[in-house]
Amino acid sequence: MAVIQFFTLVVESILWNAHVVGDELDEETREHMRQREEYLSWKMTQMLQQLEQGTQEQSGFAWGALLFGALQQWQFWAVAGVLLLLFGLCWWLRKRSQEVDGSSDEEGSSSDREQVEEEAEEDDSDSENDLGSFFEEHIQSPVQNLARDCQVVEDIIDNFINIFRTILSNSFFPVLQPAIGVGSAFEGWSPREEDIIYRLLVPLKPPRGHVFHLELGNRGETPARNFCVRVELECTCRREQLAGEMLCFLHCPEEELRRNQDRSLLHTLCTGSYLDVQKTARWFYQLVQASWVALPQSSIWRLTMLPFSRSCKFQVTEHNNKTHTIEMMFGVQQGNSDIFVSSQNTEAIFTPSTTWPESYAVAEAKFFRHMARQVPHDSFHLRCLQVYARILVGTGFSTYTLKTVVMHLLTTIPLSGWRRRHFVRQMEDIMQYLHHCLEEKRLDHFFFGNERVPEEIVLPPAFQRAEPLNLFQHLVQDPAAHNEAMLEYRHLRERFITLLFHGH
Ligand SMILES: [Zn+2]
Repeated sequence: MAVIQFFTLVVESILWNAHVVGDELDEETREHMRQREEYLSWKMTQMLQQLEQGTQEQSGFAWGALLFGALQQWQFWAVAGVLLLLFGLCWWLRKRSQEVDGSSDEEGSSSDREQVEEEAEEDDSDSENDLGSFFEEHIQSPVQNLARDCQVVEDIIDNFINIFRTILSNSFFPVLQPAIGVGSAFEGWSPREEDIIYRLLVPLKPPRGHVFHLELGNRGETPARNFCVRVELECTCRREQLAGEMLCFLHCPEEELRRNQDRSLLHTLCTGSYLDVQKTARWFYQLVQASWVALPQSSIWRLTMLPFSRSCKFQVTEHNNKTHTIEMMFGVQQGNSDIFVSSQNTEAIFTPSTTWPESYAVAEAKFFRHMARQVPHDSFHLRCLQVYARILVGTGFSTYTLKTVVMHLLTTIPLSGWRRRHFVRQMEDIMQYLHHCLEEKRLDHFFFGNERVPEEIVLPPAFQRAEPLNLFQHLVQDPAAHNEAMLEYRHLRERFITLLFHGH
């Protein structure tokens, strides 16, 4: 009964929304809508209290079980279908009313029309009968000041890189390029403040007299592609004699090299002929530790180095005790593309120190920056990711899976559908997409053979020609894993429904 009652209220609320959609939102209407939302909120709280009381008293009447039992029934899906249709209808009516507003002013200048559209948008975002804002209030607020903290971290890393470059200018260590912020913090959807790790990738270029060759390590193995970075010396006789800067590592007598020149990269950060991730991480660790005192921030902030293996991690504590955990990864660019091989960890239990997995982190960060410029100003796509990142904890799904789903959806459904007011439908779309992928045992990697990747993102030519790469390949090969994933999906769906009811 409670479920039916709740959905009746929601349907009523939406019908009300549909009723007023073509009309002017006058004061009286707004007031009525506000009261309606308060009533809905109050009713929902009351029902939840009943549910909780039922559980506490252990009266034997399992409200929760009844609720979720009901959700499994066809009636629920029928109501959900009706809801979806009504949402669609609302959206269409509102869009139509905006178009009518816009076209009625055809004689006017385009700036007038823009103003009308802007006002209509403001009406949308101000609308108090807006489920997006309703859930925004009830779902824990996102991490505050993420953009400010990203800037603080970027400033520190820029300072570090400048100092490193000065120290290393005459050496034969890799040449450091400006760091690129990657990962959830820099993409704008970090789930919880206490878990934020600010990840930056520092591109490495070969020093003078050296060349990097990327060798694909495990050809044919999917989805992770691992590379090795082979370091080769090149002749600098002709080029460098003119400048008088360095001796040729290939043609200069060894004795003279030893007396007059630093050792080549092969003798410092390599194992055999290959660039070594762990040696590079240790080198970064030592550089950070030694250079901290030269940073302007060091006089009042505190540096704490963290254990390293394949990257360099440390914490910086501001004078107000706010701590930022920073991970510096390093990578080698593939051509002039946004795809790198990097020091990031692989899923394998043991990763050899000369293995550099392919990294799409830079392309992904660039994709989210690109989308931020395209979507409506009140887009909720990052909020959706943030919420899912929270409810995913403890399930078998990775945030990367959900992020891939959202990236696909961002390039397939109309961008206006990501507005705050469509929040519940966006969340539902994500869930439906995941369900479809699980049934088909197929979730394509976003960057392989995908024609919808925006042009701004530079991919190696082979990526455009490549067959799509299935991230769910393991489900095809292992029926038990597929059953498990379907179970996990149902678990996730329950969490999603709990979120809609409780707001957390
Ligand atoms: Zn030479």
